[in-house]
Amino acid sequence: MALFVQKFGGSSVADAECMQRVAQRVYDTRAEGHEVVVVLSAMGKTTDNLIQLARQVNAQPDEREMDMLLSTGEQVSVSILAMALHAMGAEAVSLTGPQAGISTDTAHTKAKITDIQPQRIREQLDRGRIVIVCGFQGLTPTHDIATLGRGGSDTTAVALAAALQADRCQIFTDVDGVYTADPRQVPQASKLDCIAYDEMLELASLGAKVLQSRSVEFAKKYHVELEVLTSFDRRPGTIVKDEVTEMEHIIVRGVAADKNQAKVTIQHVPDRPGVAARLFKELAAANVNVDMIVQNVSEKGQTDISFTVPLDEVNRTRTAVDGLIEEIGAAGAFYDVDIAKISIVGVGMRSHSGVAFRMFDALSAHKINVEMISTSEIKISVVIRSAYADQAVQVLHAAFELDKVNEPVS
Ligand code: ASP
Ligand code: MG
Repeated sequence: MALFVQKFGGSSVADAECMQRVAQRVYDTRAEGHEVVVVLSAMGKTTDNLIQLARQVNAQPDEREMDMLLSTGEQVSVSILAMALHAMGAEAVSLTGPQAGISTDTAHTKAKITDIQPQRIREQLDRGRIVIVCGFQGLTPTHDIATLGRGGSDTTAVALAAALQADRCQIFTDVDGVYTADPRQVPQASKLDCIAYDEMLELASLGAKVLQSRSVEFAKKYHVELEVLTSFDRRPGTIVKDEVTEMEHIIVRGVAADKNQAKVTIQHVPDRPGVAARLFKELAAANVNVDMIVQNVSEKGQTDISFTVPLDEVNRTRTAVDGLIEEIGAAGAFYDVDIAKISIVGVGMRSHSGVAFRMFDALSAHKINVEMISTSEIKISVVIRSAYADQAVQVLHAAFELDKVNEPVS
């Protein structure tokens, strides 16, 4: 007998028919003799619709009230699933986040889980019941309900798996696993059998929106083995787990494009101590998420500084930067929104050399110009013209033979 945490996302519980499919899946796991804790998201687009509804009556709704509202979506899901299971003759009970012992901080609409007291869940499991918990919510120290930020049900599932020391946390979604690239961009993309937490984190932050990043961080910290799989059929998915040596045989495990970036170039910045600090202090104060930073070799005591920011933070960046140009003695600033960031990710890069060369060589063979470069231990990113993004992903997918990624090494 094992303990499974099974999380089903909004698309898996979108209507009554989906609910029955989920109920069957949960029922079968229980019938195999396992204990099951289910975590659900709100049905379909419920959360989006609730946000819209709130905005119709108030352009800036109070965050405590917003949480009061949004948390109802998950309550609908859990009670409906419990009823569907009862109809099948199964013993099941639904619990809200607070009833399940989930505590959060007071950061409404983006709260963090601070503690889980799983006694009530444990007690219900001991009675032979399937326990169904609302994802995405918990109780603040002031006894208010708080939500965990969009996609937060993944985090609820992982946190519960850690607290209950579950054998596995299965995340059911509308894709059947994690792919080497977005299959819409690369038809040859293959589903990965497994991926390391760090690789998944890099790919998640690159816009491969399979799992909420915070849930992967949580899983890594508590060594919770995750499986990403579809609720629409019974094939195995992708396991997300601790890095093991065999994983390094594969140099690159995924390639991703992020088109939601803009490049800012500050021209003719005086090359003296304190200027960069002044600039990035201002950007930090404006809450701008700076990603890649490049400073050119200085010529005649002046240099250009370029950096990337998320597209939806360009306006904030412009306000912060434009007010500073004169003070730091720069010539001006230039904003370029037609860029894409292309990244290759793989833990194998730690132990293999020549990866950057292969990447740049493949891009240059297709006359794709590299404008910025940044690297980490397991990732290389480049900035290119956005018009070439899809082509670049395809070229790199082929260059690193990602269509063969699951084949056993000879
Ligand atoms: N229902 C919430 C959302 O749509 C939480 C989740 O689905 O994980 O963001
Ligand atoms: Mg979701």
